[in-house]
Amino acid sequence: MKRAEVYIHIPFCVKKCDYCDFLSFSMNEEARKEYLGMLLSEIRTCAWATEGIFVPTIFIGGGTPSLLSGVEIAEILEAVRDTFEVAEDAEITIEANPGTVTYEKLLAYRQAGINRISFGLQSAQEKELQLLGRIHTYEEFLKSYRMAREAGFTNINVDLMNGLPGQSLESYQDTLLKVCALAPEHISAYSLMIEEETPFYERYAEDEKKRAKGEKPQMLPSEEEERAMDAMTQRILEEAGYERYEISNYAKPGYACKHNLGYWTRENYIGFGLGAASLFDNVRYTNKDSLWLYMHGENRKTAEVIDEQGQMEEFMFLGLRKTKGVSKKCFKNTFQCSMEEVYGEVLKALEEKALICQEQDWVRLTPRGRDVSNVVLAEFLIS
Ligand code: SF4
Repeated sequence: MKRAEVYIHIPFCVKKCDYCDFLSFSMNEEARKEYLGMLLSEIRTCAWATEGIFVPTIFIGGGTPSLLSGVEIAEILEAVRDTFEVAEDAEITIEANPGTVTYEKLLAYRQAGINRISFGLQSAQEKELQLLGRIHTYEEFLKSYRMAREAGFTNINVDLMNGLPGQSLESYQDTLLKVCALAPEHISAYSLMIEEETPFYERYAEDEKKRAKGEKPQMLPSEEEERAMDAMTQRILEEAGYERYEISNYAKPGYACKHNLGYWTRENYIGFGLGAASLFDNVRYTNKDSLWLYMHGENRKTAEVIDEQGQMEEFMFLGLRKTKGVSKKCFKNTFQCSMEEVYGEVLKALEEKALICQEQDWVRLTPRGRDVSNVVLAEFLIS
């Protein structure tokens, strides 16, 4: 039986955060109900299901999936279980925005089978939260977090951001220490990206350009400060018992996110909902991102066959995101040729610059390589 992870996209948010370019927007109650109807029908009519698919993980992301009631989440999971063979011990995650959950709702999520919750906190500083345009305060996060524990969640992630305008090493350290004191099982710490067509782009694009040129930005932390924040994240979280298992992800032993590990090892995944992507037998399918089309059932996926070269590239640049790196044996088993035959020159050059290291079967980024990971990973594009 084939395996595939399942991703469900819920594109509603209370309001758009100022830095966000995800596929999400505010939607009234009626439109939300209509969307859910289309989503359930998309899941139940999934063409791959006839092959019999074993599902090890489900991730309900967004947007703000925690705007959905317990009953609605139960309906979605029921549709997934009716369509696929979901593992009894499947990791089932929901993303939640602090302030959008109640104890009763969290209890209903648990009863529906959700066993992992991911809170988008971003910062413990009120000023920074306001500047990001988040809808919640730190106090509201604390309340939501405690309610999740009381409702029985034993696997909680907290999302944090660094490199924020006006953020200092001191304020970021305070955020890290406050979150560590709560002892969530998993922490994701991302760097802010200034994306086009967001209010942040209008405010900070010039500053971003300065920073890229090595000049001192006015509002954004400098490159050195960003690196110092990254180093501080690793130091504080490792001291608190977390392992950095991917560039931006830290977990207590046994709590690495199985769903995301599947993306980095190129497992099959099936995405449902507006704009959702799937990877199945090396073909990437993408749902249209027009809400109007989705609501009218005209949601044909576009398909892109990933040839062997593309598969090798993804194997390398996704796999090298993991601290463990990539296995040469696994590369050979997958592609029937050695990693050296394809990437010998690249590996040699990057190793000479101390950006990667090779130990027995494994190739991984060095700490220096991780600092400039975008540049290093781009080296594995073949053409
Ligand atoms: S809550 Fe998340 S998805 Fe929604 S607008 Fe904010 S960053 Fe974007």
